Amino acid sequence: MRVYNFSAGPATMPLEVLERAQSELTDWHGSGMSVMEMSHRGKEFVGIAEQAEARMRSLLSVPDDYEVLFLQGGATGQFAAIPLNLTAPGDSAAYVNTGAWSTKAIAEAARFVRTQVLADESQSNYSSVPEEGSLHVPSDAAYLHYTLNETIGGVEFPYIPDSGAVPLVTDASSTILSRPIDVSRFGVIYAGAQKNLGPAGLVVVIVRKDLLGRARPETSTVLDWTAMAASGSMLNTPPTLSWYLVALVLEWIEQQGGVSEMARRNRAKADLLYGAIDDSDFYSNPVQPRARSWMNVPFLVPDPALEKEFVTQAAAAGLSGLSGHRSVGGMRASIYNAMPLEGVTALVAFMTDFEKQNG
Ligand code: PMP
Repeated sequence: MRVYNFSAGPATMPLEVLERAQSELTDWHGSGMSVMEMSHRGKEFVGIAEQAEARMRSLLSVPDDYEVLFLQGGATGQFAAIPLNLTAPGDSAAYVNTGAWSTKAIAEAARFVRTQVLADESQSNYSSVPEEGSLHVPSDAAYLHYTLNETIGGVEFPYIPDSGAVPLVTDASSTILSRPIDVSRFGVIYAGAQKNLGPAGLVVVIVRKDLLGRARPETSTVLDWTAMAASGSMLNTPPTLSWYLVALVLEWIEQQGGVSEMARRNRAKADLLYGAIDDSDFYSNPVQPRARSWMNVPFLVPDPALEKEFVTQAAAAGLSGLSGHRSVGGMRASIYNAMPLEGVTALVAFMTDFEKQNG
């Protein structure tokens, strides 16, 4: 029996994708072997990789002057790769701090570059994003980095910041492919795979080609976008099984109607869950409505002593992964692309019952 899995990542995958992978596991398309047994340089796997890139480009309407890379090291690896690829020693880079993942990105970048934090939402207890138009980006900044969706705090930018001529870099790990995005506004978009794209093991980096060729000489080759672009992201052995599963997820999104259909479903799920929280005096969500995430919905009960009870009873009802991040407590429902509306409906019904018994 499958449960509804609300984990923040690794996260639920579309059942159709898992079943397809299962049916192809021991003999992929008559090759007589599993994808995980194939050479990454053979024509079968190269075909899978090319298809994944083509689908990513078409789903996000990625312009031709961008490279799409499939790398390792997670989004955390990119926290270092960004300054190494885009700055020289002594440069400065601008950051916006909207929560735990911004904080980590800033700390890692500070090892390589002078970081300037243009806005710090710690004053709002990370419950919002800066007002649109309020960021003053210094013209000498090498780039402006922001976290499109804070997976732990459940804070998502409802707009794309204007960085003028300064390249805009975003961590889209927990929002990529959940709604349309104008890629042409960005210098770099990166996203770890284990939320909306597939299993852990890959990070997708979409980088404008004019930003290549600037990596510091000491940059590790596996973090060097230019070297990776030149080798089709196969400078060394890639995580072939993850890449194949991402290819299947991208095909699934296409079959469902693409990113605009994902957005329609995600908005409906988010409206249902936030509506239930707002309609109750028992549950609360700490995020300012305009910055509420469609993907990660943190919520609290009046008495923290009830949290454990909530999570345990929910798990017994087939609703798994609802604990908030260990750093903030409370509960959190991650409702990525692969979470069906029925899962959110079941969660809301459980929440109503729980409130009746404990409210
Ligand atoms: N950024 C965001 C927004 C995340 O949610 C995560 C992982 N939860 C990371 C970065 C770090 O990703 P990884 O573990 O793949 O390095």
